[in-house]
Amino acid sequence: MAADPERHDVLIVGAGFSGLYLLHRLRQRGLRAHIVDRAPSGGGTWYWNRYPGCRCDVESMTYSYSFDEELEQEWSWSTRYADQPEILRYLNHVADRFDLRGDIQLETTVTAAQWDEDASLWRVTTNRGAVTARWFVMATGCLSVPNTPRFAGLDRFEGAWYHTAAWPDGGVDFTGQRVGIIGTGSTAIQTIPQVAAQAEHLTVFQRTPNFSIPAWNGPMDPAAEAARKAVYRETRTTARRGPTGDIWPESTSTALAVSAEEREAEYERRWHQGSFSFLSAFDDITTDDTANETAAEFVRNKIRATVTDPAVAELLCPYDHPLGTKRLCVDTDYYTTFNRPNVTLVDIKDAPIEEITESGLITGGTEYAFDSLIFATGFDSMTGALLAVDIRGRDGQSLRDLWAEGPHSYLGLTVHGFPNLFTMTGPGSPSVLSNMMTSIEQHVEWVDECIGHLTDQQQTTIEATADAQADWDQHVHDEAYATLYPRAASWYMGANIPGKPRVFLPYIGGVGKYTEICADVAANGYRGFVVA
Ligand code: FAD
Ligand code: NAP
Repeated sequence: MAADPERHDVLIVGAGFSGLYLLHRLRQRGLRAHIVDRAPSGGGTWYWNRYPGCRCDVESMTYSYSFDEELEQEWSWSTRYADQPEILRYLNHVADRFDLRGDIQLETTVTAAQWDEDASLWRVTTNRGAVTARWFVMATGCLSVPNTPRFAGLDRFEGAWYHTAAWPDGGVDFTGQRVGIIGTGSTAIQTIPQVAAQAEHLTVFQRTPNFSIPAWNGPMDPAAEAARKAVYRETRTTARRGPTGDIWPESTSTALAVSAEEREAEYERRWHQGSFSFLSAFDDITTDDTANETAAEFVRNKIRATVTDPAVAELLCPYDHPLGTKRLCVDTDYYTTFNRPNVTLVDIKDAPIEEITESGLITGGTEYAFDSLIFATGFDSMTGALLAVDIRGRDGQSLRDLWAEGPHSYLGLTVHGFPNLFTMTGPGSPSVLSNMMTSIEQHVEWVDECIGHLTDQQQTTIEATADAQADWDQHVHDEAYATLYPRAASWYMGANIPGKPRVFLPYIGGVGKYTEICADVAANGYRGFVVA
C-alpha cells in the first residue's frame, strides 16, 4: 500500500529569494510550510547561473532583502554589484540565519498538482512521492527554465557545450580553446568579456544587438556603504513606492521639452551613473518614439566611439527595437571586447544557424569550428516554470489549456478556477520590469497576510472571480499597449520561444501603483475573490 502523502499547510515550490522569504514569514505564523526545489542547493537563479561574469545589475544594496533590519545592517557587499558567488553566499547566510534548512527538501521536482475539491487541498506529485497542502505556492521563478534552441545536429557535436543557466559546478577552463557563443542578451553581455580574456578565440553569434549601459562596478566604498545604511529605511520606502522598485530618481520632464544640449548632458550624466538610471532620464523614453530615438542614438554613438572597427560597431548598434523595450543590458567592458584580436562578431540575423556539426556550426553556408559552444540563449520566461508542471484546478481544468493563448490571472498572483494557488511574481505582475527584490518582498508579504487572514478566520479557500481576472487581464494589456514595449520581439512578449503566444507578460503599471492596488484589494475584504 502506498504511504499516506506528507501533509503541509503550505507547499512552496522554489528555494530562491521568493521561496526562502515566504517560508520564513509563514513559519513565524506557526504554519507548517515546506519548500521543495529541484536543485541540489537553495538559491534559485543564483545557484543555477554560475557562468563567468554573472552578477546582479541592480545595486546590491537595493537588490537584497529589506525585511530584517539587523540582516541589512550586518551584511556587507564587497562590490557595488555583487557577483553570483557572493549573492549565493548571502542566500545561504539567510537560510542559516533564519534556520530555514530543516523545511527545505532539495532535488525534488514537482511534476503535477491537482486541486481536491472535497478535501479543499492540493495533491502534489513530485519525483519523490506525493504531498498535500492547503495552500500551494509556485515560487518557481520567471527565468528558471533555460531555452536551448533545437538546432539540428547538437547531439553530434564532439566538443563540449554549455547553457549559461546550467553551468557546471567548479567552472570551465577555456584556456587555449576556440569558443563559440550564441546570444547577445544580458547573460552573454556579462560573460563574453570574461570568456574572451581566457579563450584562444571567441566567436560571438549575434541575431539581435541589444542596448547596454556600463555598470561602473567596483569595490564597495565603506563611507558610501555607511551613508547608505544610515538611510536604509528611506531608500527601501522609495523603492517600494516608485515605478521600478529601484531608487534611481525618476525624471518628470520629457526628452523633447529640453534642448538637444540639455538632453545630451542628462544622458551623459545617467550613463556615468550606470545601469537602469539611464532609462529614467526622461519620463517619455518608453512611451514616445521620437523621445526614445534620442536615447537610442546616444547609446549608438557610445558604441561607435568605443568599437574601433566601424563595421563591427554598426553591427552592434540596435535599430530593430526602441531602447528599453527589450530588457536593458548592463555591462563591464562589453563593447571594448570587440576590439580584441581574438574576438569575432558574426551577424546571423539573415543567416540563422543551420546546424551543429561534429566540430562546430554552420551559418550562411560557412562552418565555424570550436572546442566549446556556449548557449546564452535565455529562458522560457514567466510562464515556462508554471506550465512545466501539470497543474489542474477545479473540475480537472488544466492550466496549460487555460493559458494556451497566453496567461490569465488576477493580480499576476492567482488564477480563477485554481483555488489557493499563488504564483509569485507571475505573469500579470510587475516582476521582471522591476528590481525583483522589491516585487518579491511585496508578493511574499501579501500572500503571507492573505493566508494568515484566512487561517485566522477559519476560511479554507480563496479564488479569484472570473470577472476580476478578466478586468485585470485587460488592465495589464492596456497598460502595456500605452507604451512602446509591445513593439519589440522580446521575451517580455514571449517572442524568443517558437510557438509561444505573443502576449505582453508582465504588468507595466509600476510597482508603487501595483502595491497600492494589492493593498486595496486586501483592505476591501479581498475584493475580486471568493473566500469560503
Ligand atoms: P528563482 O530564483 O528562479 O527560483 C526558482 C526556483 O524554483 C529554482 O531554484 C528552481 O530550481 C525551482 N523550480 C522551478 N520549477 C520547479 C519544479 N517544477 N519543481 C521544483 N523546483 C522547481 N533580477 C533583478 O531584479 N536584478 C538583477 O540584477 C537580476 N539579475 C539576474 C541575473 C540572472 C543571470 C538571471 C537569470 C536573473 C536575474 N534576475 C535579476 C532575475 C532573478 O531571477 C530574480 O531577481 C530572483 O532571483 C528570482 O527569485 P525567485 O525566488 O522568484 O526565483
Ligand atoms: P535573452 O535576453 O533572452 O537573450 C538570449 C539571446 O540568445 C538573445 O541574443 C537571442 O537573440 C539569442 N537567441 C535565442 N535563441 C536563438 C537562436 N535560435 N538563434 C540565435 N540566437 C538565439 O536571455 P539572457 O541573456 O539569459 O537574459 C534573460 C534575462 O535574465 C535578462 O533579460 C535579465 O532579466 C536576466 N539577466 C540579468 C542579468 C544581469 O545583468 N543581472 C544577467 C543575465 C540575465 P534574439 O534577441 O534575436 O532573440
